[in-house]
Amino acid sequence: MSTNCLFCKIVAGHIPSKKIYEDDLVYAFRDINPQRPVHLLVIPKQHLTSLQQVSAADEPTLGRILSVANQLAVEAGSPGGFRVIINNGEIGCQEVPHLHAHVVGGDQPVGPMLKRLA
Ligand code: 5GP
Ligand code: ZN
Repeated sequence: MSTNCLFCKIVAGHIPSKKIYEDDLVYAFRDINPQRPVHLLVIPKQHLTSLQQVSAADEPTLGRILSVANQLAVEAGSPGGFRVIINNGEIGCQEVPHLHAHVVGGDQPVGPMLKRLA
């Protein structure tokens, strides 16, 4: 656990979250500010800052994050598909520095992949 990390505190139960899934490698919960009717976050239990820091040793965890995404999306109400987004670092506009996959969906298409820059 990284002591000052928001999502490490959520995994540890020190900060409440709407948990929807947990196994030996990953933890999933509802985003506090959902951008679509279904908006989940799937995170590694062990602190990883972003994809910029991962190594081959993290591959089981990275695979698990993706392999549970469909199961969780269907259960949360997005059986027709979903989008996975992972923001990384400053250029990727990552706000919380603990790796997390956004799983977004619902009963309508989620829209264009990126908002057009002004
Ligand atoms: P990022 O911009 O880093 O990819 O996304 C961070 C996400 O974390 C945002 O969608 C934001 O709403 C969510 N978030 C930030 N703080 C909390 C929190 O305390 N609890 C939950 N459930 N989500 C959070
Ligand atoms: Zn962390």
